[in-house]
Amino acid sequence: MQGEGDFKMPQEKYVFVYGAGISGCGVAEVLTKNGQKVLLYNDSEKSLPQEFLNLLYSGNGQYICGKNAEDYLRQADLFVVSPGISMRSTLVQKAIAAGIEVIGEVEVAARLYKGKLIAITGTNGKTTTTTLVGEMIKTLPVKTAVGGNIGQALSVEMQGLGKDDWLVAELSSFQLEAVTSLKPDIAAILNVTPDHLDRHGSMEEYAKAKANIFARQTAEDYLILNIDDKIVADFAKTAKATICYISRKKQLEQGVFLADGNFVLAWNGERKTICPIKEMKIFGAHNEENALVAIACAFFAGVAEDKIRAVLTSFEGVEHRLEYVTTLDGVAYYNDSKATNPDSTIKALESFAGHIILLAGGRDKKTDLKDMMALIKTKTDALILMGEAKERFLQAAETAGVQNIHVVDTFDEAVMLAHRLASPPQVVVLSPACSSFDMFENFPHRGRYFKELVRKLEK
Ligand code: ADP
Repeated sequence: MQGEGDFKMPQEKYVFVYGAGISGCGVAEVLTKNGQKVLLYNDSEKSLPQEFLNLLYSGNGQYICGKNAEDYLRQADLFVVSPGISMRSTLVQKAIAAGIEVIGEVEVAARLYKGKLIAITGTNGKTTTTTLVGEMIKTLPVKTAVGGNIGQALSVEMQGLGKDDWLVAELSSFQLEAVTSLKPDIAAILNVTPDHLDRHGSMEEYAKAKANIFARQTAEDYLILNIDDKIVADFAKTAKATICYISRKKQLEQGVFLADGNFVLAWNGERKTICPIKEMKIFGAHNEENALVAIACAFFAGVAEDKIRAVLTSFEGVEHRLEYVTTLDGVAYYNDSKATNPDSTIKALESFAGHIILLAGGRDKKTDLKDMMALIKTKTDALILMGEAKERFLQAAETAGVQNIHVVDTFDEAVMLAHRLASPPQVVVLSPACSSFDMFENFPHRGRYFKELVRKLEK
């Protein structure tokens, strides 16, 4: 159970909400509806829907863009940071220095929410797992919602949920950085690998942010940990919750794991076979890991095994995650635009037997490429490189001894070339290991554009 809904908000002063994105606007709306005076602040000019502004004004709130932020700080006695903004940013640091309590949007949700909570984090697989759990939890005879790093802000999604209802939250390390009272009934950590180190500073800081998901849990809460991941497994040392391990690699006395080609759950002396692995529609070892975590979350939330099975065998996956697009002349095309780091691309490569024509590159995150290139060497028939990262990727590929490398200037060229090169039994996979911002608005934009190009080739 979360807080008791006893959020003591300043009545006379403003709650300063920093950042007018999805989360910032969401939390500003919720706070206004809770009777708080909100000052929503955005660094740059940004127009917002009039309906939203009217609501803000109706609560004596204000919306300010890009000027004299510090003047407004003086009137604030609570400062809410959007997840897109670093705790180390100048304005946040000034708020802290001024003695103002600084919290994240998720913390507002945590303080206001009275119902039951499943919180899921990890470097990769969060959205897939959260969506899967959301589908499973929907089969319970109570109200449910999914939010957080997915879709709407958590504080918005939780509105209307009562104390027996379930909220499933996908939480990024950025969101977890700024919580002080989050206490999920069920928390899960999928994996922790290097990503976002530019913002967190070090692996230790990054892992510490993730650990915030279970820091306030007690023995009646459950913590699901992937025992195959060293950093995640080590969290057990400091956790007070009841721990349930999951493993793809070994059979466990207690936990959720793979055995004889099945998903198996063993808990309190009972052993249940959920379903054969091959009946799951989404594929790849990484998705088995996501499924194991989802099974555990759903089980502790009281979802019946047959319902868990039904969802696992019908769930088609989330867009842009190893998404099957179409087959052209016997060659299947996959859109994995969401793979914005080498670890994700490694998972994509591991999901196919081989003969991959890989499209990679984009905005370089300066991550280590050695392991990925070693796998590219064994799994791909051709590597097509594009975007800002192409030169560094080319060097790393050559050092690793990758054959058949092509460097192109545009995204269109990359897709055309893949089409020209590919023949059965090859597959074409867009799994860039980079963010998309050099050529696109974001990864969904890149994925949709890829699908469009491929479908044009179909004609
Ligand atoms: P997130 O929300 O954490 O970014 P997604 O579910 O959106 O995760 O998946 C993003 C990408 O990460 C996928 O395309 C896949 O390549 C990779 N991935 C998914 N699940 C895992 C996992 N359990 N371990 C490692 N990589 C994964």
